Amino acid sequence: MTLTALDGQRFRFDAGTLCLEFLLTGAIEPGERLREPADFVAWIGRSRLDVEGDVLAGQGDLVAAERLRGAIRHLAERAARREGYDTADLRALNEAAAAPPPVPVIGAALERGWSYPVTATQFLSAVARDAIELFSGPLVRRVRRCAGERCPLLFLDTSRPGNRRWCSMSRCGNRQKLRTRRA
Ligand SMILES: [Zn+2]
Repeated sequence: MTLTALDGQRFRFDAGTLCLEFLLTGAIEPGERLREPADFVAWIGRSRLDVEGDVLAGQGDLVAAERLRGAIRHLAERAARREGYDTADLRALNEAAAAPPPVPVIGAALERGWSYPVTATQFLSAVARDAIELFSGPLVRRVRRCAGERCPLLFLDTSRPGNRRWCSMSRCGNRQKLRTRRA
């Protein structure tokens, strides 16, 4: 996903997994992205689920999205610091995951798609299920916070050696390089 920081820099950021990508809807600068149901619809279309057809979202979905996002953010921050979990956050994942997720379909050219419309509730279920996979499995040790100063971005390190430190080399990685050179 391409992000724009408060200072205007645009950079590519790969959160590594759907549930951490979902934090980009409001957990980072420049703040809340989901002000209207239409914002949520647009965001779902940009997500890594490759939703290309109709999406339905209402006002209530914004509340559900914020609740799930808050839980994933807490869980991810605690995982990155190797801390224990809050049961209220786990409950929020379970509740969202209880709804049916988007239904996959296969097309005439053997391409994978979704049965449309995809609802925001289905999308949130997919996000919550992804979070359950992540936080209950071995990859939880690969959840990291960007090592950049004051950078809030959280990601799953999917690199083979497991040594990813930055949200993006062109953002925080570069800043660190400049700082080291200056020092
Ligand atoms: Zn960063």
